[in-house]
Amino acid sequence: MTIYLDHAAATPVDRAVAAAMCEALTDPQLQANPAATHAAGEAARGRVEQARAEVAALIGAAAGEIVWTSGATESNNLALIGAARLRAGRGRHLVTAASEHASVLAACDELERQGFAVTRLPTDPMGIVEPAVVAAALRPDTTLVSLMQVNNETGVVQDIAAIGTLCRERGVLLHVDAAQAAGREAIDVRALQVDLLSLSAHKMYGPKGIGALFISRETVRRVEPVLVGGGQERGLRPGTVATHQVIGMGVAARLAAGRRVEDCARLVPLREALWAGVSRLPGVFLNGHPQRRACHILNVSVAGIEGESLLHALRELAVSSGAACAAESAEPSAVLRLLGRSPELAQGAIRFSLGRVTTAVEVARAVEVFVTGVERLRRLAPPA
Ligand code: PMP
Repeated sequence: MTIYLDHAAATPVDRAVAAAMCEALTDPQLQANPAATHAAGEAARGRVEQARAEVAALIGAAAGEIVWTSGATESNNLALIGAARLRAGRGRHLVTAASEHASVLAACDELERQGFAVTRLPTDPMGIVEPAVVAAALRPDTTLVSLMQVNNETGVVQDIAAIGTLCRERGVLLHVDAAQAAGREAIDVRALQVDLLSLSAHKMYGPKGIGALFISRETVRRVEPVLVGGGQERGLRPGTVATHQVIGMGVAARLAAGRRVEDCARLVPLREALWAGVSRLPGVFLNGHPQRRACHILNVSVAGIEGESLLHALRELAVSSGAACAAESAEPSAVLRLLGRSPELAQGAIRFSLGRVTTAVEVARAVEVFVTGVERLRRLAPPA
């Protein structure tokens, strides 16, 4: 049996989520289009709105500030492209970090092709984007800063509150990709002074293919849609709302809000036991900040071993080298290169990510598999 340690790529759907989705797919009362004005439409709409309130509650927002999307990729695209375009009259400069998810970086590339300027900030060797570095990058024509709360490869947590304060002072919108943070870190959009925030259900025990974008009340008129069509979601995201997906995300958000502290209190010692076990070997390095890390991710580099051979040796474990979405690329992780890791160490990196189903027995077995695998590979090809 494979030991699943890839929760940063996808979490298993919670049984309560699956049950609610199943009901939504089979209950004759919930089959109408939630935009329809008849009673059947109203019934479906009621459940969609309940889910909207549940997702809003997870991040301290109001229900009316949540727009459904297909996932964090779409949320990131809508936030960046939608806000940059509508604010182009005020300025055409954006600030982000080079360690962001591909969906933010690619949206920035697209904006550059449309004549916008983008500053991609470096991180320090621990993966932190210092607020002072963000402040220094702001220009009179900057309209948006986009930074993730928790990095998907290293788990490093950024100081969003400090960055929120400085963006507010300068009248610049702040977008936060919170796909990995939801259910792990506390998120309060008002306290953090965030204007836009992306979420993905499948990173928090919900289904794949559904996400949300928080757009604050004050910001909503400053974002234009990326997709065009009907007027759903106040015209910001046209298309029939997927009732069952939305209901699933609502339940997932409610569970995440209720279990976050308890889940993390259980995961931190498991993650530390994993680190203590794998770091018994020489030449194993922690990637990211030793403390400012979300509870679920442990990323290590292994000296003298090629990433692919290591993954092969660890095939009893479902883990990834770098981010799952970049799994087809043989390039060393750009996020780890930013930390100053050599191409060899960046390529020999393994991301373990733990979740609700992870047990201490699985962690102990993962350590055993890792240690024997690395020792065997090193015997086969001793370091030069
Ligand atoms: N942002 C981050 C930080 C992520 O980890 C992911 C998932 N890999 C995404 C965005 C994209 O999310 P989705 O798969 O829902 O499009």
